[in-house]
Amino acid sequence: MQHYIVLSRKYRPKDLNDLIGQEVLAKSLRSCLNTKKVPHAFLFHGIRGVGKTTTARILARCLCCIGPDGQTDITSSPCGVCRSCVAMDKEQHLDIMEFDAASRTGVDDIREVIDATQYAPVLGRYKIFIIDEVHMLSKSAFNALLKTLEEPPAHVKFIFATTEVQKVPETVLSRCMTFRLHPVSSDALAEYLVDIAQKEGFLLEKDAANLIAEESEGSVRDALSILEQSLMISAETKKILADDVLKMLGGATSDDVKILLKLILSAKTKEALAKSEELFSKGTDPYVLFKNMQNVLYRIIVAKINGKIAEYSLSNLLYIWQIFLKQTENLKNASFPEYVLTAAVVILAHTASFPDIEKLMIKESPAETSATFSKVEKILGEKITPKPDNSQALVDNILNKFPGSTTHEVE
Ligand SMILES: [Zn+2]
Repeated sequence: MQHYIVLSRKYRPKDLNDLIGQEVLAKSLRSCLNTKKVPHAFLFHGIRGVGKTTTARILARCLCCIGPDGQTDITSSPCGVCRSCVAMDKEQHLDIMEFDAASRTGVDDIREVIDATQYAPVLGRYKIFIIDEVHMLSKSAFNALLKTLEEPPAHVKFIFATTEVQKVPETVLSRCMTFRLHPVSSDALAEYLVDIAQKEGFLLEKDAANLIAEESEGSVRDALSILEQSLMISAETKKILADDVLKMLGGATSDDVKILLKLILSAKTKEALAKSEELFSKGTDPYVLFKNMQNVLYRIIVAKINGKIAEYSLSNLLYIWQIFLKQTENLKNASFPEYVLTAAVVILAHTASFPDIEKLMIKESPAETSATFSKVEKILGEKITPKPDNSQALVDNILNKFPGSTTHEVE
């Protein structure tokens, strides 16, 4: 039987140049290595799956590489052939120790590390201790570590990684060179996924890649794990389509999403309810459904702002947008998602039936206008200025609240 290696391991970057979406970090580390100004301790923090441990290993590789001649100094581009690099690739490096603080939190565990710092390196020039999830160490473990961290032997380097930097004591932080790994942008992730799929002999549709990227919220590991499932599902066709990914993620097809949204925006409450029930009974996850509808609604709003569509009123679309955000949030942790879904569809379709607020704004009837405004203010949760030309301010307001709004393109 062939040994199966998960994608995140198979394609784990070995070089600073291969890190996905961490150009600033790579640049800083490169300059730190090239100028030979290497501190005793590094700390990498950021969300899960963004490349902290990978970066720690790459840095260890750079620090330990002795070059093909066995004489070369630390480098930002390890040779890959020296005995240090080879041992590292086989995961058998005697001088690079990885320690998971999540499972070994006590002072005795950390004493093992401290004791090990006393011995000289075997293969390379340094003994390197990579401590993952360092924030999990107990208080006494931190205190024990602190002494070594203050004055480590010259051949010792610490590399810490954590998802919760705020839990790391200030005394430890102040002794580390600290780097934040940013969530990887959707565009960079999507591009990377297309590339990996191709290396695996698959064609990953651009829209499918975008869906996986958005779902992963900046985590390379999450993205690769979703891609992995997609590869299994599409093993015969060798082609991964957006709709396959949607279905796998618990969403509906893009056509279903558009149909339901259109029914809602046209205030066809009964039909919208029937459609949402149909999708729910087919196993669609309401939260994913709403997130996908939100993306389509966003594109409609941008198209409206740019004067590319005539239907719907901009103000109404913007009010619906606000409610959409709220309902999507409600669905996120709903104990009875079916009920929340029904309520959300009814509320939204009802809101879509409101009269065109832009027209009301310039109506002569002050009573009617003010009633509409208080309704609108209730929905928005903030004061609005009753002027017919305030839609741009509302547009800005909405766009500000939409993450990544400036990077999206209109279809
Ligand atoms: Zn090397």
